[in-house]
Amino acid sequence: MENGFIDRGIGHTPEVVASPPKEYEIVVIGDRCKECSLCINVCPKDVLARGQRMNKKGYRATVPVKPEACVGCRVCEWACPDFALFVRPSEKAIGRVEWSDGEEVISH
Ligand code: SF4
Ligand code: SF4
Repeated sequence: MENGFIDRGIGHTPEVVASPPKEYEIVVIGDRCKECSLCINVCPKDVLARGQRMNKKGYRATVPVKPEACVGCRVCEWACPDFALFVRPSEKAIGRVEWSDGEEVISH
């Protein structure tokens, strides 16, 4: 079983056996971000915003400011040209910005 479905083979509709996850963890790798704002602009739920901390390239990294609003569509992840953020199912809504000297955590 994977992703809440049982695959009964070709010609059969997969059977839903579990609810999809409702909470997500959004992780930004601070030093990879180049402040292009693509992720912020494509997010349908306004989860992401421009942060204040400057990274080693001189850009202000994206911050997941409203992780509780994330619906796990992963459009932000696909939009990022620098593989700087990732979204995964989680027990609780949480946003992180990871830095070489630690991390900022936003959770609800
Ligand atoms: S997964 Fe979707 S809703 Fe969540 S932060 Fe990314 S674009 Fe926004
Ligand atoms: S799309 Fe990637 S590089 Fe651009 S602002 Fe978002 S996290 Fe940073």
